[in-house]
Amino acid sequence: MPIAPEYLHLVFPDTVFHALLYGRASRDPKKKGSSVADQIASGTELCEEHNWPIAAVFDQDVDRSASRHARRKRRDFEALLDTIGTGRGKIVVAWEASRYYRDIEAYVRLRNACMEAGVLLCYNGQVYDLSKREDRKLTAQHAVDAEDEADGIRDRNLRTTRGTAKKGTPHGRILYGYARRYDPETGDLIEQYKHPTRAPLVHEAFQRIAAGETEYSIIQDFRTRGERLPGIDWQYYHLRTMLRNPGYAGHRVFQGEILREGTWPAIVPQELFDQVQQIVKDPARLTTKDWSVKYLLSGIARCGACEHGPHLRVVKTRGVRAYQCSEGYHTMMRVAMLEGYVEQALLDWLQLRAVDAFRTDDQQAEAAKARTRLAGLKQQLAEAQEKAAAFDENGRPRLSVDSLTMLESRLMPLIEAAEAESRVVQVSPLIQGLIGADDVEERWEALTIEQRRSVVRQCVSVRLNRARARGVRTIEPGRITLAFAGEPGFRVGLRRARGSVPGRGASRGSE
Ligand SMILES: [Zn+2]
Repeated sequence: MPIAPEYLHLVFPDTVFHALLYGRASRDPKKKGSSVADQIASGTELCEEHNWPIAAVFDQDVDRSASRHARRKRRDFEALLDTIGTGRGKIVVAWEASRYYRDIEAYVRLRNACMEAGVLLCYNGQVYDLSKREDRKLTAQHAVDAEDEADGIRDRNLRTTRGTAKKGTPHGRILYGYARRYDPETGDLIEQYKHPTRAPLVHEAFQRIAAGETEYSIIQDFRTRGERLPGIDWQYYHLRTMLRNPGYAGHRVFQGEILREGTWPAIVPQELFDQVQQIVKDPARLTTKDWSVKYLLSGIARCGACEHGPHLRVVKTRGVRAYQCSEGYHTMMRVAMLEGYVEQALLDWLQLRAVDAFRTDDQQAEAAKARTRLAGLKQQLAEAQEKAAAFDENGRPRLSVDSLTMLESRLMPLIEAAEAESRVVQVSPLIQGLIGADDVEERWEALTIEQRRSVVRQCVSVRLNRARARGVRTIEPGRITLAFAGEPGFRVGLRRARGSVPGRGASRGSE
């Protein structure tokens, strides 16, 4: 695996990386910017950033088609190879792969020279150790790519992207929720700012996910409120990609890694963004097709007879649909009966008591404390990891691996606990619209089944207990246990993968 330059000192803690800087002009006459001087400047900056003293610069490699210059170019590449052999440098630094790899032969010679001298190779912001098989494979692939004329163009685009990425300025397609202002004279980008109507929508989507709503119900709602862009309706994947894009927290991303802070304002606070990542990246969630569910409580309500509370599912017996424990025949109740009971209790609660339940001043204070604790714990861990990667004058790590492992196993549970506590209960707009509403019944009726399920998940835990006798037609006291938000026993019902519900496979046709 290539190493990011900033971690090089951890992998090779006691090495000073004297750098050999290499700049070379392109064959492409249309190629603008990134002159040899620019390349050397970027390389110098990189070396300074990571404390690599520059041992030699090879920047005379100006490309011309004339043979005189071609010879000169060869000489400079040869000079680089010779210098690698002398051991004056520990790392070769260039700007992009094609700077080295004019052809496969050049690559093979460079690779052999580096391998023999134990010199690392740095380009495209990664450091390759050619003594490693995997890195040899990767760099060879780059060489093959570089030889391809079409890929020269791709490299160039990547380089421009990388260049703007380094500066933290936006590039490419504009992120939904933002707008850009350009200089009317030069056409240069002046700023990227929050779009007055779209940015709040983005923020709302994150908030609602954090509050336990499903992506599907949000999309349904957004669709009723209008188009995403003129002529473009909201699609499920729009939301999916939005919820995972660190650009909304103000981060500049390049090829999946966060490079640095962007130069634009965040729409979503970091904390909320992190919270949502935990939810959307939960693997159990990805496989759930919740939108196919037609019942209010299936997969949400649980069996009270089984200790671990498996979910209820809907089965059809003698023409009647009923909720049943997904693991057996412990509990069963007709769909209309259970749903009617829960709906009534839920609507009463929303109208009369929910205001208090969602009053979160105390929770906010607790969460703030947990956040402080979390930062302290993370700091401790980072310091220990740093110590383990640093060495004393005798060449021993300042913290042994054993001690680090022990420390990590002690800190990790504390960190996880603090993370859980720091998550604030948030009220989604969906719930907000129902709390204390006089016409709560009508509002409830207007919701889609998916939205109703979302409300249930956020507001009430439902357990169906065993009936005292078979065939009981009424709901006996204690038959259904409800725990509303803020009460003991309540847990936000996150969706589970269908595959993770035991016994599921044995019951085809149930819903
Ligand atoms: Zn059960």
